[in-house]
Amino acid sequence: MKIKKLHDLYFKELVSANEIKTIVKTLVKNVRQDLDENEVPLFIGILNGCFVFAADFIREFNNDCEISFVKLASYQGTSSTENVKKLIGIDEDITGRTVIILEDIIDTGTTLQEIYEIFRSKNIKELKIASLFFKPDVYRKELHINYIGKNLEDKFIVGYGLDYNGLGRNLPAVYQLTTQPKMKNIVLFGPPGAGKGTQATLLKEKYDLVHISTGDVFRFNIKNKTELGVLAKKYIDAGDLVPDNVTIDMLKAEVNKNSDAAGFIFDGFPRTESQAKALDEFLAEKNERINGMVALEVSEDLLVERILERGKTSGRSDDTDEEKIRNRFNEYNTKTAILKDFYEAQGNFYGVDGIGSIEEITERLSKVFDKL
Ligand code: AMP
Repeated sequence: MKIKKLHDLYFKELVSANEIKTIVKTLVKNVRQDLDENEVPLFIGILNGCFVFAADFIREFNNDCEISFVKLASYQGTSSTENVKKLIGIDEDITGRTVIILEDIIDTGTTLQEIYEIFRSKNIKELKIASLFFKPDVYRKELHINYIGKNLEDKFIVGYGLDYNGLGRNLPAVYQLTTQPKMKNIVLFGPPGAGKGTQATLLKEKYDLVHISTGDVFRFNIKNKTELGVLAKKYIDAGDLVPDNVTIDMLKAEVNKNSDAAGFIFDGFPRTESQAKALDEFLAEKNERINGMVALEVSEDLLVERILERGKTSGRSDDTDEEKIRNRFNEYNTKTAILKDFYEAQGNFYGVDGIGSIEEITERLSKVFDKL
């Protein structure tokens, strides 16, 4: 789950793609149960919103059926308007047919009622309505809805065919309107030794953000011989990643300790795809999100030298042994580097050249931070 921005508004997942699948299956099952054997129903989808639902519905129906669409404009912006403007569709002869109207969502029911009246006057055998979603609190008509997938509160939703001013129809899940995130949350990314810690220390001051370095938190715990420290030590000493569940719980606790923060610089987290997903979900629960992943790009050979140099003074056991350092790169290349694709797919990845003086690199990073 993740907060999505469409135009000027923010949306948060309400019904997952998997849940929708289950709802559609159940709807189809119920519709089929009520049909006479050998009956070929005519489904009428109400455009635009229902095209995704209708497509999934008839594939799931998996038996002879026909489908046609009617179109009318009923939504503008985020509130439904009362006057149905236009109805386009159905030229075929539907006398004697069983017609099932497919709706993506029914709220006031005004548009549906109009369509229903039109079909009722056409001498058909039976007329039914199946709606994926239904808002009982705002429904104002007497018309009986034969099949309802799921009742929803009266919130504006997008996704799975539904849009906000044209955007969002292609989202596989359904999202509801939420408040604008208040934080600036940045994942500072890059291989070990790329300079994330140094830059984060400078940037947190400049942008008034809280810097969370999971490596530092682990080292603090190791130094203080806490339970977490004892557990993490063996992984860290070998240059392996600490297990996800341990790291994710620790990260959440660190964020929760700073609930008034203007935002966070995450340094060394996430390092696996499941950490990245957990972070998105955790932030979405707080109506927050990752504004961007900013990656310091530096070649590996240069970094091994840099880390060995750092090992002379850092006191870090994992900075002195070249084999362990190579293993950290191996962990990075096999488990962490793919996160670039994860954030790129969200349109949230920003690469920055990590070679140069500290000031130069801060400058380059600041240019990205400013626009996030
Ligand atoms: P760092 O200071 O970020 O280079 O982290 C040092 C070591 O701490 C890593 O090599 C891992 O063993 C462990 N560690 C830090 N962050 C994470 C994370 N997000 N997931 C798993 N292990 C981590």
